[in-house]
Amino acid sequence: MPEPTLFERIIAREIPADIIHEDDLSIAFKDINPQAPHHILIIPKKPIPRVGEANDNDSATLGHLLIIARKIARDIGIADSSEGFRLVINNGQDGGESVPHLHVHLLGGRKMQWPPG
Ligand code: 5GP
Repeated sequence: MPEPTLFERIIAREIPADIIHEDDLSIAFKDINPQAPHHILIIPKKPIPRVGEANDNDSATLGHLLIIARKIARDIGIADSSEGFRLVINNGQDGGESVPHLHVHLLGGRKMQWPPG
């Protein structure tokens, strides 16, 4: 068995995190190093390493992560078009991924720049 990832250890409550949502398929918690006033990570409980390694039968789980992102954005008051937010999924080394457990970054509370670095 491979070592559990950092995020699997957060799911198992072996590592503390500021968890703001949990359901059967996902968990969401505040990023430890926020890049915006709101920076939340939404992750599947299933240990999918990254989008590039998801299976065709993971579509419900992947879609669920976006629905939870939308719910959280509404809850914290940044879902309107007058405010807004950004969702980011880093995939692999060139994509900037540092934790090999799929996660959606929900960033908001400031004006985002484009293109991303
Ligand atoms: P990635 O670079 O893989 O797209 O994003 C990983 C994210 O996990 C980073 O934004 C980083 O700040 C966050 N992170 C790393 N370690 C921890 C931790 O122990 N707790 C929490 N809450 N976030 C973490």
